[in-house]
Amino acid sequence: MDSIQDLFAYIENSPTPFHAVAESARRLEAAGFAPLRETDPWELVPGGRYYTTRNQSSLIAFVLPAAAGEGWRMSAAHSDSPSFKVKGASQKAGFTMLDTEGYGGMIRSSWLDRPLGIAGRVLVKTGSGVESRLVDLEGAAAVIPHLAIHLDRTVNEGHKYDLKKDMQAVFAGPDQNDSYAALLAKAAGCAPEDILGSDIQLYCKEKGQTVGGGQEFLLCPRLDDLACAWATLQGFLAAKEGRQGRVWCLFDNEEVGSGTRQGACGSFLPDVLARAGQALGETEADRRRALAGSLLLSADNGHAIHPNFAEMSDPASPVRLNGGVVLKFNASQKYTTNGVTGALFHSLCQAAGVPVQEYYNRPDLPGGSTLGNLLGAQVSVPMADIGLPQLAMHSCVEMTGAKDVDWLAAACNAWFGASIQCTGDGCYQAAL
Ligand code: ZN
Repeated sequence: MDSIQDLFAYIENSPTPFHAVAESARRLEAAGFAPLRETDPWELVPGGRYYTTRNQSSLIAFVLPAAAGEGWRMSAAHSDSPSFKVKGASQKAGFTMLDTEGYGGMIRSSWLDRPLGIAGRVLVKTGSGVESRLVDLEGAAAVIPHLAIHLDRTVNEGHKYDLKKDMQAVFAGPDQNDSYAALLAKAAGCAPEDILGSDIQLYCKEKGQTVGGGQEFLLCPRLDDLACAWATLQGFLAAKEGRQGRVWCLFDNEEVGSGTRQGACGSFLPDVLARAGQALGETEADRRRALAGSLLLSADNGHAIHPNFAEMSDPASPVRLNGGVVLKFNASQKYTTNGVTGALFHSLCQAAGVPVQEYYNRPDLPGGSTLGNLLGAQVSVPMADIGLPQLAMHSCVEMTGAKDVDWLAAACNAWFGASIQCTGDGCYQAAL
């Protein structure tokens, strides 16, 4: 399977953060990684491969190094995308409606007039307690129809898409007699009265596709940030045993600020690093030494220049689709790349034959924030912010360049595969 088809498969199997974690766990287990529960004691061996999850929607995988104090080569991407959380169902004008709440900053109009999937997790009452089951309501769909232009002649003059008025979804089950609750229970393999809770969301059912005469562009839902999750996972799994430990992070809730227990602002990464270090017999001094010698790649997509809105990009640093991996800089440190980590990333990509495009926000426009700057408050290690160049960020279907996908994977291979040693404050020895 070529890389783009594998990326599409990863995204299709990941309609929600819960499914993204399950799909990543499946791939990790196929590569010999053993699951650990945060609530269990951990018995780890040097060189061992492990992963653990938090809230079923964030995952950290790691390979223990042979000795304490050698540091960690890390990456972070996010499992969530803007979507609509389903609160329940009600009846209106002869339709069953799914009552929704917006999650993250989506381009609302892009969700209209297309079949949307319904997936997430259901909490089921069992004989002994509560069990969580992942569901995807096969055969069911939700649709958010536009109002006809004849009934709103001003729709093309800047319509405001109101979450309560415009964005509630019509539910369409496989059988007209199937209620939403009945289908949810069927998907979870339980009786409707045994559902104690749920975290369900809508997702874009469209499959990824290549477009253009040379198949040079990709259209696909959730490229932000599952493309970076996929690419960093490729690099993490491909790397050979090295002196340093390796860590792959997938965090939920980036789209709503990361301020949750399982988000980048939570204690998940420091907790895992502390327990992994303890297993190596790490002393407090070893721990400080390890962090000083560690590196983290914060991987989240960046904006390419849009031909219809070229003036929105920084004229000094336009980023193009099929132009290479994006390396992000921001004077206010919303992106963590600095001269040193940027130079290190450039050197790895040069050795791997990967073009790199430096990205800056237009000087008079504030940019978004991402994982790295928030993680830095939890785990202070040198970081660089990178990503895939894309258009239509936070649209239901996003667009990127086919070549960029391969280059991003090659850059992540280099990141995890290279031998890198800190030889002084601001200096590194690096070789692929
Ligand atoms: Zn993102």
